[in-house]
Amino acid sequence: MRAKREAPHLAGRRGNYGEGVRLGIDLDGVVADFNTGWIRRYNQEFGTDIAFDAVVAWNGIPSLTHFRHMGEFWKWARDHGGHSLFRHLDTYPGAVETLSSLARRHQVVILTTKPDWAVHDTFAWIADHRIPTREVHILEDKWEVPCDVYLDDAPHNLAALVAHRPEATVCRFVRPWNEPVAGAFDVETWEQFAQLVNRLSVTSG
Ligand SMILES: [Mg+2]
Repeated sequence: MRAKREAPHLAGRRGNYGEGVRLGIDLDGVVADFNTGWIRRYNQEFGTDIAFDAVVAWNGIPSLTHFRHMGEFWKWARDHGGHSLFRHLDTYPGAVETLSSLARRHQVVILTTKPDWAVHDTFAWIADHRIPTREVHILEDKWEVPCDVYLDDAPHNLAALVAHRPEATVCRFVRPWNEPVAGAFDVETWEQFAQLVNRLSVTSG
């Protein structure tokens, strides 16, 4: 005799992550506090006293350190106690809480750019911090992944998202290292982002 209800192995398979709008969320500089992470380790290792808020320009790292270019920085970032720097980053206050709350109604899609050597640490970091997602893309061109809303801090990503996804709502997470991008909405806090998403999903029904 056949059971009428959904097969047990499928029941609840999508949980609450499969509804609502698709939120394309960047990690570094948005969810993960990359600058505090590298500056803490750099100061410890080299006895320097760089302030955690010292980065005020995109690619501003070489001017604050002894690294002559970003290639030297990435070489250093690769091994910190057997893991890359990316494994050691804290989350920004409110980031995980807000995403967890949004994930009850919406789909959180992680869109992050990483070198090959940081891919496994990225998955581990997402797990360590209980980022509420079922979909992770580690890629350069984020606009290739369709989402209804994007949240990013990188000027080049924001410009590309506005250009290639005109139907989407592109949000700049306002940081000292970025500036307004034509066509992108400015979001200054995680609370503001949640409000924007909730407004959008109410108007779009
Ligand atoms: Mg970023």
